[in-house]
Amino acid sequence: MSKLYVTNSLTREKEIFEPLNPPYVGMYVCGPTVSGESHLGHARPYVTFDVVFRYLKHLGYKVRYVRNITDAGHFEEEGREAEDKVSKKAKLEMLEPMELVQKYTNLYHDMMDMLNNERPSIEPTATGHIVEQIDMIQDIIEKGLAYEVNGSVYFDVTKYAKDNDYGKLSGRVIDEMITGSRELEGQGEKRNPADFALWKSAPPEHIQRWNSPWGEGFPGWHIECSAMATKYLGTPFDIHGGGMDLQFPHHESEIAQTKTVTGKTPVKYWMHNNMITINGRKMGKSYNNTITLREFFFGGHELLAKAYHPMVVRFFILQTHYRSTLDFSNAALGSAEKGFERLMTAYEISQQLIHQGGAVNAQLDKDVSKLCDDCHDQMNDDFNTAQVMATLFELAGTVYSIKHGQIQEGALSEATFNKLKQTMHLFIHDLLGLKPVTQSNNNSKLDDIMNVLIELRKEAKAKKDFATSDAIRSQLQQAGVQLKDEKDGTVSWSLN
Ligand code: ZN
Repeated sequence: MSKLYVTNSLTREKEIFEPLNPPYVGMYVCGPTVSGESHLGHARPYVTFDVVFRYLKHLGYKVRYVRNITDAGHFEEEGREAEDKVSKKAKLEMLEPMELVQKYTNLYHDMMDMLNNERPSIEPTATGHIVEQIDMIQDIIEKGLAYEVNGSVYFDVTKYAKDNDYGKLSGRVIDEMITGSRELEGQGEKRNPADFALWKSAPPEHIQRWNSPWGEGFPGWHIECSAMATKYLGTPFDIHGGGMDLQFPHHESEIAQTKTVTGKTPVKYWMHNNMITINGRKMGKSYNNTITLREFFFGGHELLAKAYHPMVVRFFILQTHYRSTLDFSNAALGSAEKGFERLMTAYEISQQLIHQGGAVNAQLDKDVSKLCDDCHDQMNDDFNTAQVMATLFELAGTVYSIKHGQIQEGALSEATFNKLKQTMHLFIHDLLGLKPVTQSNNNSKLDDIMNVLIELRKEAKAKKDFATSDAIRSQLQQAGVQLKDEKDGTVSWSLN
């Protein structure tokens, strides 16, 4: 069997995967900022690295997967210091910041469970690691690569870049970074526009604040990942993952911070998933196309023709290689839904098939056996789930042919027959993490119950018994379940 290759963003090459301390693998993936609901942009990195996590474990590695929760204010967009997101949203929703953080963290966990993403080994929070962040900042100041101004601390990018290749990961040069940075806040304080904040002095209205050697304030965003990755994975560690949009300034800054403190290049393999577009457009507030995962799974966004099951969304994401852009549209999701059903039905049939003796078709036997091997090779080729799925569909074709008697019973040798069953189970269920919809999540019982109620209400309506149909709707509403009548006559439901 082939060896595992990964595309390393740092070298821009496909490299053979060799962990630093086999059989251990350390993997860090940047987690969400929990100042709002998880949206589609969150689904892709976490599904992508969930498959990486599953596959590395399958290969026999002992993986420590660290994925943080950003629950302290950070700077919103590339090169632009925005108002602290958590504090701003907390004010808006009249919540204590930690209450808001808890609410969105819970919701994020629910969505990750529905997508069938395995939980990481450690899920550290930024607010739980303020001490580590302050220590790291102090160390950077002592090494002469950060400076304090009015209670804020900035990393001296120009000085660092003299002896280090700042910009290697993102392929940017300092001049470009300066023109690309339009930081509004703190601009007057910095020695150079390319410098970034390690610690920010908190203005009086800022709710989240901690004591530090530089006065009350809060950490910059980049430093939390350096602090938590170093604490739980050491330096260097094997894999650092995240969306391509995080390469600059976030990951570039992480490298600079950790290298300054430890003297070592922090990460061996950088892996970045490409972006998601919706109907060909980037996601963004101005397009009103930031669709939350809850809206995807339960309906309610104007761009969605209907709700899509989390397993369909997962299937759809994995149908494209993680390094390619992925465009969401109702048409594409509709065909993913059909594809998902076809594959899962074949999977379920395959697990029930029993081998029958008979004349073995040697060519078919060889072909099926090779397709099974191909799945491994394709996964080893930089986690090419798109090709794996295409191969699984070929195997599904064989399963249907056996089921419908188009392939003679016994045409496959017992060994190949069992290999086919095992390959279907290993790749579909264990590695791609796809489950038949009926048992896909904890809500499956609830789904069944809701279908009964929806049917009863439909019958009542058909009999013009509107008292009953309205009662079902309003009592469900009291119980926190919202029914929505769709244009095509079907009824969808969502939890309030
Ligand atoms: Zn990060």
